[in-house]
Amino acid sequence: MTTGAKVGCSHCDTEAATNHYHGPGLKRIPLCRTCYDQYVAKEMVAYWKDHIAEEQRRAGTSS
Ligand SMILES: [Zn+2]
Repeated sequence: MTTGAKVGCSHCDTEAATNHYHGPGLKRIPLCRTCYDQYVAKEMVAYWKDHIAEEQRRAGTSS
């Protein structure tokens, strides 16, 4: 038996055992397994894009 109420995924609305993704501002977003994986992947891409842009700005390179 698993504990915890089933919450609809905030992305695809699937009612399933969800993972709570800790978003910005410690906001907890209920996501199903599939959306959770996609969300994390997207966050990683966004993070690195930001990071690379910041590095380039600091280096003073203009394209
Ligand atoms: Zn989902």
